[in-house]
Amino acid sequence: MTIRVAVVGSGPAGSSAAETLARAGIETYLFERKLDNAKPCGGAIPLCMVSEFDLPLSIIDRRVRKMKMISPSNREVDIYLEKEEEYIGMCRREVLDGYLRNRAAKSGAHLINATVHKLDIPKNSTEPYTIYYADHSEGGAQGIAKTIKVDVIIGADGANSRVAKEMEAGDYNYAIAFQERIRLPADKMSYYNDLAEMYVGNDVSTDFYAWIFPKYDHVAVGTGTMHVNKASIKQLQAGIRARAVEKLAGGEIIKVEAHPIPEHPRPRRVVGRIALVGDAAGYVTKSSGEGIYFAAKSGRMCAETIVEVSNGGTRIPTEDQLKIYLKRWDQKYGLTYKVLDLLQTIFYRSDATREAFVEMCADRDVQRLTFDSYLYKTVVPANPITQLKITAKTIGSLLRGHALAP
Ligand SMILES: Cc1cc2nc3c(=O)[nH]c(=O)nc-3n(C[C@H](O)[C@H](O)[C@H](O)COP(=O)(O)OP(=O)(O)OC[C@H]3O[C@@H](n4cnc5c(N)ncnc54)[C@H](O)[C@@H]3O)c2cc1C
Repeated sequence: MTIRVAVVGSGPAGSSAAETLARAGIETYLFERKLDNAKPCGGAIPLCMVSEFDLPLSIIDRRVRKMKMISPSNREVDIYLEKEEEYIGMCRREVLDGYLRNRAAKSGAHLINATVHKLDIPKNSTEPYTIYYADHSEGGAQGIAKTIKVDVIIGADGANSRVAKEMEAGDYNYAIAFQERIRLPADKMSYYNDLAEMYVGNDVSTDFYAWIFPKYDHVAVGTGTMHVNKASIKQLQAGIRARAVEKLAGGEIIKVEAHPIPEHPRPRRVVGRIALVGDAAGYVTKSSGEGIYFAAKSGRMCAETIVEVSNGGTRIPTEDQLKIYLKRWDQKYGLTYKVLDLLQTIFYRSDATREAFVEMCADRDVQRLTFDSYLYKTVVPANPITQLKITAKTIGSLLRGHALAP
């Protein structure tokens, strides 16, 4: 007999968790309300995700090797990758998620097309949880009401997590991201062949950046802002469209989408035998708004911890044992989150600091450091002289733009 684990949500977080559990022989139920879900997302993934998650290259629509940073005054800085084999992967989420979900099912996870809407949480620490769900495989959109009993639950159900609500995980501050998928005429699309663009400025995002990312047969054009400013999101989207008006000329909008992005982890990520991963836990980085890799990684790390502390699924883990996953997570990525938070606070403050930010990006040392940390997810410190150079240049850029003025 093995423990039963339910994974709610089959985005990158849930499918990675379910695959790891099922491969270890644990009885795993993977719930997904929408099997053709196309998560609103820029779909940019770091190179290391391809090898770490053994992704086939057919998942990658485009290999981006150049990034254009565009300042509030439209100063353009080209950032490019030096090594031939390096790239940022651009994918459509429906393709990536479908692949990871099917692989989890092939590994032995029971995939259930259903919406989870309620949990019964037992007082006793060894009694099972009851999950209430609407099964769409039989009952269509409405679904047939069903229940299942499990020993452990992983909440991988994204930013609006139902599991987080049921376990009283507490709220987090969040941003709203808005995106249009635009099909461009062939000549315009060829400009974005292996190029992505990031625009900064109050006109395109008061809190982050706006982007144009190339996909299979279209570009994803989007922006984000803190939810307190969400009334301005359409105006900000108009801002990025205006800045790139010539590049997007003749384009046809094929999809409009929006979704919340968590800004920091929830107050409680493990309660009893329920653990949150991915966006449900709040693992998107500041500055870059990156969450796909961290979702998949946290799902896998949480599942590996469950396999380990349950002795391969033969005994029910305790809350303290599940919290080992949190310790490992915070130890591995805590610094990354802090650094990116700091960068956002310094550089996205005003148009002057954004100008300084873009100016700084022209430096090859800065480019190398940024790309290495993004592509490989290892913060490899530069040698002390390069570090000093970067610090001096940062301060210089900020001073030149009068960005350090109060
Ligand atoms: C516009 C936008 C652009 C972005 N661009 C990027 C980018 O370029 N690169 C990047 O790394 N990150 C990006 N992100 C962040 C990234 O999309 C998320 O961090 C990532 O999707 C988190 O994965 P997840 O598996 O935790 O959650 P999700 O991908 O949200 O998956 C949750 C899954 O759970 C299912 N679900 C939800 N509730 C239930 C329920 N009650 N019952 C059953 N199933 C349920 C959903 O259908 C969904 O399939 C972007 C986000 C937005 C909004």
